Amino acid sequence: MVSVAHSASARSAPVASGDGETQLLRGGEVASALRKEIRAATAHLISCGGPLPKLVTVSASDNPAAVAYRRSIVKTLDRVGLAHEPVDLPNGSTDADLQELLKQLCDDASVTGVLVLMPLPPHLSREVVNEFLNPMKDVDGITPANAGRLHLGLPCLAPSTPQGGILLLDHYRIPIEGAHAVVVGRSNVVGRPLAALLLGRDATVTICHSRTVDLESYTRRADIIAVATGAPRWLNRSHIRPGATVLDFGINVVNEKVVGDADYAALLGHAGAITPVPGGTGPVTALVLARNTVAAAFAQLGGTMESLASAFDEFVCPQAN
Ligand code: NDP
Repeated sequence: MVSVAHSASARSAPVASGDGETQLLRGGEVASALRKEIRAATAHLISCGGPLPKLVTVSASDNPAAVAYRRSIVKTLDRVGLAHEPVDLPNGSTDADLQELLKQLCDDASVTGVLVLMPLPPHLSREVVNEFLNPMKDVDGITPANAGRLHLGLPCLAPSTPQGGILLLDHYRIPIEGAHAVVVGRSNVVGRPLAALLLGRDATVTICHSRTVDLESYTRRADIIAVATGAPRWLNRSHIRPGATVLDFGINVVNEKVVGDADYAALLGHAGAITPVPGGTGPVTALVLARNTVAAAFAQLGGTMESLASAFDEFVCPQAN
């Protein structure tokens, strides 16, 4: 969800390399703060009469990235004491089967969150998810209703990956208000929602993509550059001004090693701060999903998105109309 209390801020030890020092924005500390927050919000939910939050992950393929993401979700939820149920759509399932499954899950009061693992196989339509996933159970903020609310600045469940990026900036006290942020990538799961979140925090935001002409003229003026291109080690020294902050969302496997969309080694000593890959934005994503699952349970208890906020206010229980 959007707009929750920020975790305690911190400074990590900077790494010196070449001409300057670069602060590493590690996800581990943010992850610890999030675990604490999720446990407290779950206890608060139960004291308000809510259920133990349960996330259902729906898989329709054996895509390796989706399999790895589910594994990480299961481990994360287990550690914070939330329930998880895997549901696998059999081979040969149709759009009608997916629609029926979503309907059942959305009608089931014991299910607080539903995540359909992407990518879907070609014979299943994303439109079915858009249309039949109840926005109040859409814990990764992918439905048009949540995306629209995010862009309108209304309470919503926002995608976990970009929310994690904002939490990292807050944790390490990187100013967002008034900063010029350039987001490279315009996907619905990372680039666009991140741009909306940054705008909501009063940054001046530019979105670049593969058709942007003279992209460096934008990135070189940025205070914060967020990169989500899916191109390994793509962002390099020539893209950024010395001292700028780099948020790297990339997860690419090159020669059996996980690398980001930024050239981490080349940017050390040039960027003012950077999220390492692995160990930066990655460890935060599944925890934000867990936090959204708890917040979604509050929304369901109160019957409106306005009730999301009571997840993190220990004195307020949602009042159903
Ligand atoms: P998509 O492929 O959906 O989008 C990539 C975006 O980058 C597109 O908007 C594309 O432009 C743009 N782009 C690609 N190449 C260039 C280039 N050379 N110059 C400028 N823009 C470019 O990817 P995702 O958003 O799903 O993922 C991006 C990265 O984030 C990946 O590395 C992925 O693994 C990672 N990821 C990480 C997550 C996490 O939890 N940390 C979660 C999800 C993704 P155009 O629109 O014009 O094609």
